[in-house]
Amino acid sequence: MRAEIISVGTELLLGDATNTTARFLAERLALLGIDLSHQVTVGDDPARLTEAIRIALGRAQMIVITGGLGPTPDDITRESVSQALDVPLRHDEGVAEEIRRRFERARRPMPRSNLRQALVLAGAKVLRNPMGTAPGQLLEREGRLVILLPGPPTELETLWLGEVEPWIEGKGLAEETIRSTVLKTFGLGESKVAEVLEDLLADSSSCTTVTLVQEGEVHVKLTSKAPSAAEALRRIETVAEEVERRLAGYVFGRGDETLPSAVARLLTKGGHTLGVAESCTAGLMGAMVTSVPGSSRYFLGGVIAYANDVKRASLDVPEEMLSRHGAVSNPVALAMARGASRQMGADIGIGITGIAGPGGGSPSKPVGTVFIAITGPYGSECFHHRFMGDREGVRLQSAKSALFHLWRYLRKGLG
Ligand code: ATP
Ligand code: MG
Repeated sequence: MRAEIISVGTELLLGDATNTTARFLAERLALLGIDLSHQVTVGDDPARLTEAIRIALGRAQMIVITGGLGPTPDDITRESVSQALDVPLRHDEGVAEEIRRRFERARRPMPRSNLRQALVLAGAKVLRNPMGTAPGQLLEREGRLVILLPGPPTELETLWLGEVEPWIEGKGLAEETIRSTVLKTFGLGESKVAEVLEDLLADSSSCTTVTLVQEGEVHVKLTSKAPSAAEALRRIETVAEEVERRLAGYVFGRGDETLPSAVARLLTKGGHTLGVAESCTAGLMGAMVTSVPGSSRYFLGGVIAYANDVKRASLDVPEEMLSRHGAVSNPVALAMARGASRQMGADIGIGITGIAGPGGGSPSKPVGTVFIAITGPYGSECFHHRFMGDREGVRLQSAKSALFHLWRYLRKGLG
C-alpha cells in the first residue's frame, strides 16, 4: 500500500511554521510498514488543494490530509476533498452538539461559523477530537483511504494514535513492521565506534546499523523491517548484543536512557549517596544528576568551589597543595572529591577542576585541561582530560564525562 501526505497551510509554505506533523506521520507510517511515496504541501487555496488531491488519488491508496479543518473561511480542506472526490458534505448533528457543549463548558458563545466543523463527507467515519472542535474524518472509497486530520500537532497526534492506527491495524493494512533500537555510548569518538562496528555497518541483511552523534554521545541505531514486531525485535536483539559485546564499558543504555538515568539506576542499586565539588562546571554536574526524578534519594548536595579560598575553607583542600600543584591538578581534584564526600556525608565524592577558557591556559595546562576525581568504596581515581571546543563545550564535556566516569566506577560494585 502506498501513502501520500498532503499538508495544508500557507504558513507552512511561507516558513512561518515548521511541518512537524508530516515528520510524525512519516515515522508512524514507516512503523506500520506502509510506504510513503509523496509528501506535498499546499497553501490555503481551494483550487490548488483540489488539484493536489486529484493527483494523489491517481498514485496513492492512502491519502492523509492535515490542517484546514477549522471554522474560518481560510479552512478549505472539507470543501476541497468533497470537490475532488465528488462526495457531498452533510451536517452531522452529533458533531454539532459536541461543539455546542464545548463552548457551553467554556462559558463562551459559539460563533455560527463553528458549525462548519460539523460538515462531514458522506459515508465518512467521524474521528472524535477530545482536544479541539474539529473532528477528523476517515473515508473509504473506490479502494482508496482518505484521512482528514486537524492541523494542531497535539490534536493530530492524539487522533492518529488513538483512532487511525488502531483502525488501520484492525483492517490488516499494516503489512510490515519497522522497529528501531538505539544503543547509547559515551567516551569514544564516532570514527572509533564506526571502526569497531565496520562489518555491522556494512551489512544490512537482518537490520541496518547507523551511528549518530548527539551532544557528545555516539548513538548506534539499529532498524529492522519484518513481517511482525516480534521478528523485527529478534533480529535487532542479535545485532544489539554483538554491539554491546564489542563496545563493553561504553554502552551506557538503550532508548530513553540518559547518562544521568543510567547513573541513577546504579546509585540506587548500590544504596550509595553522592556529593560533588565543582569548580569549572559550577554546578552543571549536580544539575544533570538532579534532572532525574527521585534524585533526592541519593544526591545529597554539592559545593561550587570556584575560588581557591572556597576550595580551602569548604572542602579542606590544603593551602600547600594548591600553591604547589595549582588548582587545576590531579591532587586538588582528589582532595575536592574527598572534601565533597566528607562535607556532604556521602559515601561517594566527585571533584571537578579545569580550565574552561578562553583565557587562563598555559603551555603545560592548556584550555580544556580538566581533572575529574572520584572517591568512594571502590577506591579513588582521577582522570586527566584535554577537551576541545569553546567554554560551554568544555564545561558540558566535563560534566558529562564526570557522569560517565561515575557510571563506570559504580559498575565495579556490580562485581
Ligand atoms: P484549527 O481549528 O486550529 O484552525 P485546522 O485543522 O484548521 O485547525 P490549521 O488552521 O491548518 O488547522 O492549523 C492550526 C495550527 O496548527 C496552526 O498554528 C498551524 O501552524 C499548526 N499546524 C498546521 N499544520 C501543521 C503542520 N503540518 N505541522 C505543524 N504545525 C501545523
Ligand atoms: Mg485553521
